[in-house]
Amino acid sequence: FPLGRRASCDIYWHGVSFHDTDHIVSGQVNKFPGMMEMLRKINLSRAVRTMQELFPEEYNFYPRSWILPEEYQQFSAQIRALKESDTLSSDHHTFIVKPDGGSQGDGIYLIRDPSELRLGAGPGAQAKQVVVQEYVRRPLLIDRLKFDIRLYVLVKSLEPLQIYIAKEGLTRFCTEPYQEPNQKNLSHVFMHLTNYSLNVQSGAFVHSDSQSTGSKRTFSSVLYRLASRGVDIKKVWSDVISLVIKTVIALAPELRVHYQADIPPGKPGPTCFQILGFDILLTKNLKPVLLEVNSNPSMRIEHEQEVAPGVFEYVPSPVDEEVKVCVIRDTLRLMDPGQSKQGGREEAPAEDGLPSLSLKQVYPKYSRQFRYLCLVDRIAALFLRFLGIKGNMRLGPTAFRTFIRCCKLSNANLPMASVDILYIDIARRWAASAPDAREAGMGLQAFVEAFFHLAGRRCKAPLLRDQVSALLEVCEAHLEGQAGALTACSEDRRSLSCGRAAAPPRGSSSSRTPAAASSTSSSSSNPRPCSPASTRRAASHDQRLQRSRPTGGRRTHVEN
Ligand code: ADP
Repeated sequence: FPLGRRASCDIYWHGVSFHDTDHIVSGQVNKFPGMMEMLRKINLSRAVRTMQELFPEEYNFYPRSWILPEEYQQFSAQIRALKESDTLSSDHHTFIVKPDGGSQGDGIYLIRDPSELRLGAGPGAQAKQVVVQEYVRRPLLIDRLKFDIRLYVLVKSLEPLQIYIAKEGLTRFCTEPYQEPNQKNLSHVFMHLTNYSLNVQSGAFVHSDSQSTGSKRTFSSVLYRLASRGVDIKKVWSDVISLVIKTVIALAPELRVHYQADIPPGKPGPTCFQILGFDILLTKNLKPVLLEVNSNPSMRIEHEQEVAPGVFEYVPSPVDEEVKVCVIRDTLRLMDPGQSKQGGREEAPAEDGLPSLSLKQVYPKYSRQFRYLCLVDRIAALFLRFLGIKGNMRLGPTAFRTFIRCCKLSNANLPMASVDILYIDIARRWAASAPDAREAGMGLQAFVEAFFHLAGRRCKAPLLRDQVSALLEVCEAHLEGQAGALTACSEDRRSLSCGRAAAPPRGSSSSRTPAAASSTSSSSSNPRPCSPASTRRAASHDQRLQRSRPTGGRRTHVEN
C-alpha cells in the first residue's frame, strides 16, 4: 500500500501453510487448509488422473504418470508393451522420475527403462515414493534452449470458486542447448531441467536486466518472439487459461473437504485465498503441458551475485520485480476488505493512483464452459453432506450406509450386504496404504472410487462420465426432496461446506437452491471422533490408471 494504510485490515500472510498460525477466528489467511498437501506431486497426479478417467481428452495436458512403488507392475508392463508395439525405436520412450516431496529439481532423473529406477529400498527400508512421468521429448525451444513458464494464479475463494491469472509470468531457461534425450545426454540437467535453482549454478547462466534476454525472461517477451514467428499467441493464452481452470477444478473437491474439516460452517474462522505457482511447458506444437503447481511459489525479487571474488550480495532482479510485485500488490488490492464491500471490482478505482489490475479473472468468468467438468465436485458435495460438520475427513460405515439409503441406491441387485462389502473392500485397501492414519474410514478419493463402482453397476452407458452423471442425478433428486438440493459447481453451492464466502458471483445465472449446511443424519451417523485439525490427514487417492485398482498411496500430513 504505497499510499499508506487507509483502514484496518486483518490479512494474515503465512509463509508456508494455513496452520502457520492456529486459532485465527476472523479475517483472511493467504493459504488454504490442505493446499500444500494437495499439491505434492503424488496428490496432484491422483487428482488429475481421476479427472483423466472421466474426461481423457480434456485432461490430456498432464503427462501420463505412475505412482511408484505401488504401480511398479503397471509401469513395467506398459513400458514393455510400448516398446514392443513401437516399430520405430525404443529411443522414443523416456521417463522423468520425481520424488514426491521434492522441489527445485532435487532428486529428479531421467530413465528409459524401469530397471534404471532408484527407489532406494534397502533391507527393511520403505521404498521412496516417486511420480514417474512420460518425458515431453519435443519442447518448444527458443535460442535452442528448453524453457518453462511460471504463471501466478490467485485462488481468491473456493466457495464460490474464483480464480485470477496474472497477465505476466516468468520463463526460465535451460543453460545447455537442447537435444532430444538419448543414452548419452540423459544426465545433463542443464539441458533437460529448467529449474532456476539448478541452472543458476551453471557457468552459462545469464542474469540480465533486460526482460527479453538472459536465462529468466518475462512470458510476454517470449510471446512477442513467438508472435513474430507467426504463432497465434491468443490461442496459446487461451489454452493456458483452460489448463489452469481445469487443474483447479481437479483440486477443488478435496480442498473443500479440508476446508470444511478445518473451518466448519457456522464456526468462527478466517476466509482463505492463495497464490499458486503453475509450471507449464510448451511443446513444439505449442500445446501447454502442466508440470507442477507450487503452493508456496518464491516471491523473491533479488538474486545472489558475486560482486567481487568471494563476495556475494543480493542484487535486485528486474525481471522478478516486474512480475512478482504486481502479483502481490494486486492480490492485496483484491483481498482488501474495503474492495469486497464495494463488490470486489476487478478494475482498480482510478483515484487510488495505482495501475489497473495485473490479475485477470478467469473463473467464474468462463465457468459455463467448464461446468460440465465438475462431476467430482458434485460427488464431493454428497461426501461432505454425509460426513457432517464435525471436523473429520472420513466417512464411517454407518454414514456410507446412510448415503446409500437416502439416495435409494440399494435394491435387489445391490443388497445392503453388498454395500457393506464394497465399503470394507475399498476402505481396507486405502487403510493399508496409510497404516499411520489416525482417522479410519473412507476419504474422498475412496468415496469417489466407490461412487464410480456404483455408477458402473447401475448405468450401462459406455462412458464412465455418463454413468457418473446418471448416478449423480439419481442421488441429487432423492436428496433434493429430503433436505434441499445438492448443487453442482462451486459457484452454485454456497452453504454446503465453506459457507463464508457467500456472496453470489457477479453474472451468475444460477437458479439452484443452496445446499443444506449439514445432513441431520450425517453427524449422528458418523461414528468417528473429531481429531485436531493440525494432525488431520489428507485423504488418500485412487489409482485408476487404465481402470486398474491397485492399492492406494501413503497419506501425508495436512499441513506441517
Ligand atoms: P520440481 O518441483 O523439483 O521443480 P518439476 O516437476 O517442476 O519438479 O520438474 C523439474 C523440471 O523438470 C521442470 O522444470 C521441467 O524442466 C522438467 N520436467 C518436469 N516434468 C517434465 C516432463 N514430463 N517432461 C519434460 N520435462 C519435464
